Amino acid sequence: MTHTRCLILGSGPAGYTAALYAARANLMPVLIEGPQPGGQLMITTEVENFPGYPDGVEPFQMMDDMRRQAERFGTVMVADEAVRAELGATAGDGHKVHRIFTDKGEEYEADTLIIATGAAARFLGIPSEEEYRGKGVSACATCDGFFYRGKTVAVVGGGDTACEEAGYLANLCKKVYLIVRKPYLRASEIMQQRVMSNPKIEVLFEHNTLRLTGEGKVTGADLVFRKGEADEKDVHIDIDGFFLAIGHTPRTELFKGMIETDAEGYIKTEGDSPRTSVAGVFAAGDCADPHYRQAVVAAGSGCKAALEAERYLKTIDN
Ligand code: NDP
Repeated sequence: MTHTRCLILGSGPAGYTAALYAARANLMPVLIEGPQPGGQLMITTEVENFPGYPDGVEPFQMMDDMRRQAERFGTVMVADEAVRAELGATAGDGHKVHRIFTDKGEEYEADTLIIATGAAARFLGIPSEEEYRGKGVSACATCDGFFYRGKTVAVVGGGDTACEEAGYLANLCKKVYLIVRKPYLRASEIMQQRVMSNPKIEVLFEHNTLRLTGEGKVTGADLVFRKGEADEKDVHIDIDGFFLAIGHTPRTELFKGMIETDAEGYIKTEGDSPRTSVAGVFAAGDCADPHYRQAVVAAGSGCKAALEAERYLKTIDN
């Protein structure tokens, strides 16, 4: 069992920034990286909107910079995944601690815990998605787009992610359908403009996917135009790849029933602070942010979580 003053779960901008601040405050943090070192940003193409990189930056580079900066001040990085938690347990000397048990069978006991576990890509929930997972279905254009060079693909979603992925795929593919369930895009103006002016992208507004078709791999999709309305119409498209970009689910299952969350599982924090319903436990980044979900916001909340952890430790030390 390892005891630490500050345990951080997650290695996205929130986790690394929390680690940087906690390490500089001499809390000697331990950071458990989780299943996707570098976090969700690692599955995007280029980061253009993180301050300090005027020419944009490769996600790998940015996350490596953040990681090295946190390590420089003494953060211990652990390549492992938290699989079980006990929050607010009573330690031998009577004070409250939080315990995390990992995939590799390790146990960590922490005076403060910063949860920065992020969020995971959502799927539509149609049976053929499972059937064709890895055989034409993907939730990451940057990871899998390469396999569809010169082919025709579809992206589902109308937000910034969908537009970004459609743009990325249009650089590689012959044609990209963007399947949008509403009559408009939700994405930011600049992303909408990029999509609408790209000749390789055809936006199918008010379409929903019913099923994917193909022998052993995706070769098409059955869609419906204006689902549930009088002028409903079935539409078939021939595609080789089907990319989901319909949002995310917070990675907070580990703490279910132990910590207050909203109906979708996002951890509730106190007002503008990263304080959760459990004393000594703080939440940062996308696992507590259903609204902004930006790297820079996540980094800022990681900073706040570390500062709060430091304050909290002072109160229990006195
Ligand atoms: P969003 O939640 O913003 O968008 C999800 C999209 O998926 C919406 O258009 C939604 O439709 C659609 N959707 C959800 N469920 C279904 C379904 N079952 N069937 C069909 N469509 C569905 O998620 P994003 O991942 O796009 O973005 C998350 C956050 O990250 C946002 O704040 C965004 O601005 C940000 N972001 C910023 C980027 C950048 O600035 N470079 C890049 C990527 C993301 P509907 O509109 O009908 O609800």
